[in-house]
Amino acid sequence: MTTKRSLVERLNQEGAICAEGFLFEMERRGYLTAGEFVPEVALEYPEALKNLHKDFQHAGSDIVEAFTYNGHREKMRVIGKEDLLEPLNRAALKIAKEVANDVSEGTEPNLMAGNISNTNIWNPSDQNSQKEVRGMFEEMIGWAVDEGADMLVGETFYFAEEAYCALEVMKSSGLPCVLTIAPMGENIMRDGVTPLDTCKELEQLGADVVGLNCFRGPETMLPYIKDIRANVKCHVGALPIPYRTSEKQPTFFNLDDYDNCKCAAPHGRTFPTALDPLFTNRYEIRKFMQDCYDIEVKYLGVCCGANPMLIREVADVMGKNPPAMRFRENMSNHFMYGTNKRIPEHIKDYGDKA
Ligand SMILES: [Zn+2]
Repeated sequence: MTTKRSLVERLNQEGAICAEGFLFEMERRGYLTAGEFVPEVALEYPEALKNLHKDFQHAGSDIVEAFTYNGHREKMRVIGKEDLLEPLNRAALKIAKEVANDVSEGTEPNLMAGNISNTNIWNPSDQNSQKEVRGMFEEMIGWAVDEGADMLVGETFYFAEEAYCALEVMKSSGLPCVLTIAPMGENIMRDGVTPLDTCKELEQLGADVVGLNCFRGPETMLPYIKDIRANVKCHVGALPIPYRTSEKQPTFFNLDDYDNCKCAAPHGRTFPTALDPLFTNRYEIRKFMQDCYDIEVKYLGVCCGANPMLIREVADVMGKNPPAMRFRENMSNHFMYGTNKRIPEHIKDYGDKA
């Protein structure tokens, strides 16, 4: 059997990829409700979730993250299905574990990651809310450990203190911990701490990886990643969304469509259902990943909006050779824009008018 390296061993060597963005992709595939965003798919269509994990694995993801994002007690209360909380978590973890171990012979198994995230009830001035959040983290981490997680990911926190609380609970498991934050458009955590100071504190609290995920595209995430990389000693993670955020509109929550949109979303904003024209292309994602990798940021992935094609770009930057690499672009055989000598000149000549 091929040995399975730990997260930190992988990061000390070539790096590790964690594909994310399950909410958006499951929604696109017709298995999840936009807006509500609860990962019931783990119970209702386990095969669909398994397929997505397999597609990401095929494209080069080293980590199979259990799809428990938003699968916490508060969200289950919002949709009136608190009784499904534990079954949902366990089902998602079991599916992730199964896929992580399901690799072809001679290939290193993936790591399975348990996952907790922003709860949306954290209130800096209400200790009861904080106690409740801690309890939510504890039960989810308990199930993740129970189901054999190799590592833990805490993510998308926009309150610094909530991130610290999450990490404390995660650390008590003894497993490797990744903690990534998601500052909103004001470019500061909601409780007034800078993203850099939050990451420095998370390192002090024992995180193996600190960094940013979600909300921000390459352009508005990279400056923070550089700053963090220069100021912490532990590994750094970067998982942007593949959308063209800008200094004026740093996150996808308030991203405007270009002027040529003739059919705006009925709810009045592009987030989350009308972001399609604002996608980055694969080369923009590749550039971001290369910029990160060049400065030794080696925990990389793509968040909401991700698809396997983008994960393959990350894998290529890291020098990995996942099965999907066999199908990477080959324009030389294109019928009109190719360079293959069999492509007739009169077809090539037509290319600019096509
Ligand atoms: Zn995301």
